[in-house]
Amino acid sequence: MTIPEPTLCAPDGQKTCFACCPPIRPSGYEHIRHMNIIKRILRENTAGFNRDDRSLSPITGFSCWALGYLDKGYSRIGCLLHPAQNGGTDLRFRVDYGNKCSRESCPESETFSHLDHDSKSFWLHLADGLDSFSYSSKKDNPLFHILKWGTELLELISSAEGYISHSKEHFLETYPFFLPRNSLRPPVYLVKSLIKRDNVHLLRSATFRDRVERFSSRLCSELGRAFVQTDSYFPHKFSSPRVLPFPGSVPTETISHQKEGKGLAEDRPHFEEVQGVLPPVHRLPMDRDFLDFLRLFAKIRRLTMEDALLLKCLTDEKLSRFGKTL
Ligand code: SF4
Ligand code: SF4
Repeated sequence: MTIPEPTLCAPDGQKTCFACCPPIRPSGYEHIRHMNIIKRILRENTAGFNRDDRSLSPITGFSCWALGYLDKGYSRIGCLLHPAQNGGTDLRFRVDYGNKCSRESCPESETFSHLDHDSKSFWLHLADGLDSFSYSSKKDNPLFHILKWGTELLELISSAEGYISHSKEHFLETYPFFLPRNSLRPPVYLVKSLIKRDNVHLLRSATFRDRVERFSSRLCSELGRAFVQTDSYFPHKFSSPRVLPFPGSVPTETISHQKEGKGLAEDRPHFEEVQGVLPPVHRLPMDRDFLDFLRLFAKIRRLTMEDALLLKCLTDEKLSRFGKTL
């Protein structure tokens, strides 16, 4: 018999995540804050569910009539219309949400799905003892913030630990680097570039996180300066004097205008004007983690590919220098 690969949504026989049901809900909503009332609704939904009914019954408000208990012990919570509950037939059309339900996912479950088998079980142990409500809570379930660090780093750690499981408390004590932080996204690109198999121990240091945060903030300032005035950073590439912004970023008419010697300060485009015509950073075909760093940390939201490559060179060079000091 093949044992199904665990998913972040359905990790084991004791609990499930139902955080994204229904897909339209207030931002920051947590089921656990309304646990008692939701438990009552879940029992009613489960008892009133008719597996043979095929009629449409749209969701109203922020509660779905098809969310119920999946086991007799009332521990696993999930969609009663899901194909896994109905012999492979998908009945989710009944809530009349189009394909919103089947499309709904979260970045953490995507990251989890790419982990190798042993890493999956290593990380899932951090959620031991949680019930479906606390497991579905972005605050209470440590996996939601740890998975933000991405597959590469998480596989490195589980392998360095010999896949021997830790409790949540023991893990966070051993790796203070992973204590929850306020920011929505961590600086994944920086850390995955700095941490390799031979220096995973740095993540155990109480000071490493502060050092990375200080480095990140210095780097963001440098990237910001490089973005508006590249000559001092990339003199080998550009020889003509420029202030805003660098060549691939400037509309053609502006470049020819400057070539004609009309590039006086008052003629130059405003930074915001030029930004408006550039491609959004997240659309560039580059390492997603680097692009996230540019966008969310350095606050550079639009950029040409050429310029993004230059900023990546600068970032990698600074990372390499910083790495030598660790
Ligand atoms: S139909 Fe199923 S997947 Fe969609 S919101 Fe309801 S319980 Fe969730
Ligand atoms: S929030 Fe993520 S882990 Fe939870 S049910 Fe939705 S996709 Fe699955």
